[in-house]
Amino acid sequence: MNTKEKDLKYIMHTYGRYDVALKSGKGATAYDEDGKKYIDVSSGIGVNSLGYCDDGWVKAVSEQAGTIQHMSNYFYSSQASDLAEKLCTLTGMAKVCFGNSGAEANECAIKIARKYSFDKYGEGRNQIITLKNSFHGRTVTTLSATGQDVFHNYFFPFTEGFAYAEANDIDSLKNTVSGKTCAVMLEVIQGEGGVNILDKEYVTALAEFCGERDILVIVDEVQTGVGRTGKLFAYENYGISPDLVTAAKGLGGGLPIGICMCAEKLKDVMSPSTHGTTFGANPVVCAGANYVIDKVANADFLNEVNSKGEYIEKMLLKLPQVKSVHRMGLMIGIEIEGDAHAVAAKCVENGLLIITAKNLLRMLPPLTITEQEIDEAVSILKSTLEECK
Ligand SMILES: *Cc1c(COP(=O)(O)O)cnc(C)c1O
Repeated sequence: MNTKEKDLKYIMHTYGRYDVALKSGKGATAYDEDGKKYIDVSSGIGVNSLGYCDDGWVKAVSEQAGTIQHMSNYFYSSQASDLAEKLCTLTGMAKVCFGNSGAEANECAIKIARKYSFDKYGEGRNQIITLKNSFHGRTVTTLSATGQDVFHNYFFPFTEGFAYAEANDIDSLKNTVSGKTCAVMLEVIQGEGGVNILDKEYVTALAEFCGERDILVIVDEVQTGVGRTGKLFAYENYGISPDLVTAAKGLGGGLPIGICMCAEKLKDVMSPSTHGTTFGANPVVCAGANYVIDKVANADFLNEVNSKGEYIEKMLLKLPQVKSVHRMGLMIGIEIEGDAHAVAAKCVENGLLIITAKNLLRMLPPLTITEQEIDEAVSILKSTLEECK
C-alpha cells in the first residue's frame, strides 16, 4: 500500500486531504514523494513560522533532543523558564502556562477566567462571551466557545456558559454582557472566520467597557501571534492590554505547543493541581520556541514581515480576478471572483499550497518567505485563476 492507501485504510477520516504526500521541505518550498515541487504559502496553517527546516531551528531542536528530551513537570526546566521569561519580558504579561495546542491554550484561559471570578465573586459569575464567526478549537469546551452554529452539532451536551455577540458591534456586546459575565474572548483578526480584521475603535471600546466591569479580556492569538501580523502579538496593533493571551500555531516553529499568558492581577489564580498536562513545557518543543522567539522578536524581522506583506498585497491586487485583499502583516485573505475552494485545489495541482477561509483564499506564508518565492507563488496563482475562469 502506498501512503495514501494506508492513510485511507488506517487513519480516521476527519480531514479531506489533497492528493499529495509531502516528504521534505526547505524555506517556503516543499517536495512530495514523487519529487514534485510546491511553494507553500500556508506554513502548515501558520505553524512553520520560519519555513521548513530552518537551519538554526533544526540545530536547536536536535541538540535538545540529544541532551534531555522530556522531564515531568515536577522538575524545573531551563528551556521552559527561559521561554516564559522571554515571553513575559517582551509582552509585559506576568506568567505563562504551557500546553500542547491552541485549543488547550484556550481551555487554560477559560479555566483561569472562571477561577478568578469564582475566587473573587463566588459561584455563578462564569459566562464567557465570544464573537460570532470566531474559531477557538475542537475540544468540547472550545467548540462551545466557537461562535459558529456549524460547530455545535453531534457532540452534545456542550459546555455551558458561553454567549455570542456580533463582531465589530459594541452594542451587541453590551447587550450580551450580564451580571454573570466573567470574560470576553476574541481573535482580533478572525482567521478561520474569513480573515476578518476587527476595527480598532471596536476593540478599544470593548477593552474599556470590560475593564470598567472587571470582565477579563482574553485574546486568542493562536493564529495571529508570533510575528504573523508584523507585531509579536496582533493585540499590539490595537493598543490594548489583555488579561489573558493564548498562542500556539507559529510559536514552536513546527512542534506542538500552546501557551496561555496572564496579566499581573491573574498571576496567582492557578495553584498546584488546578491545571496541567503531561507534555506541557516539553524541553525539545521549548527549544524550538525559544529559537523562534529569538528570531521573530526583533524590530528588523517584524518590519520585513510588514514589507513582505505589502509586496504580496501589491502583486495580488494586479490580478484581475482579485476583488480585495484583507491583510495585516503576513496574514492574508484574498477575495476572488469564483470558488476559492476550487481555485485552492487547482493551485495545489499546479504547485502552490494555499488554504481558504470561508469563501476567501488565505495565505499564511512562512515569515521568512523570500521575494523569489513570493513571485513564484503569485505567478502560479495568476495562471490558476486564469485556468479557473
Ligand atoms: C487553530 C486555531 C485554534 C485551535 O488550535 P489547535 O492547535 O488546532 O487546537 C484556536 N484558535 C484559533 C484562532 C485558531 O486559529
